[in-house]
Amino acid sequence: MLTSKLLAQLPGIEHGFCTRHSGLTQDAMASLKQIHSGLVLVAERERGCIGEGDALIATVPGVAVSIRTADCLPILLADVRTGRVAAVHAGWRGTAAGVVLNAIERMGSRPADIYAAIGPGIGMCCYEVGLEVAQQLGEDRAGKVDLAEINRTQLESAGVQHIDVLGLCTFCSADQFWSYRREGEQAGRMISYIRVQ
Ligand SMILES: [Zn+2]
Repeated sequence: MLTSKLLAQLPGIEHGFCTRHSGLTQDAMASLKQIHSGLVLVAERERGCIGEGDALIATVPGVAVSIRTADCLPILLADVRTGRVAAVHAGWRGTAAGVVLNAIERMGSRPADIYAAIGPGIGMCCYEVGLEVAQQLGEDRAGKVDLAEINRTQLESAGVQHIDVLGLCTFCSADQFWSYRREGEQAGRMISYIRVQ
């Protein structure tokens, strides 16, 4: 299990980015039917699938919110003023839809109170897109794109100052991570979660 040094310093926050070896399940967590959207849901109960969407917010202590990825970026958010937290699934579609900013808005957070950690996902080293996708991500040509950097820039532009980018590529590190692009349908999924204790 990997953690963010930035989030680890926050009292009362528990979080983790699983590797392919972590063996954690979502059974005791709130989860989503992920659809590569900008949709945000609030976990109204402690466990099970809350519905279709790509960001899940916990507004009370004790509720772990979780998402699953294998190349898409997991992003975990904590609001140190309200104690609300969120788990965000950001592939290119979610990133283009501004899912991480939608989550902060729905949390009712002031950007200055947000601590954000961008976990392992496909890196710029291994992620090449066509013109149509590039344009939706605000680029003007086909080629390599840096999803983590685009999300970091979105957060910064919104006024978030505390951002940790783990900078780990799921495609490069087969020993550590599942990668949908490398393993196809055989790829497992890695859970990322956050909760206030
Ligand atoms: Zn790579």
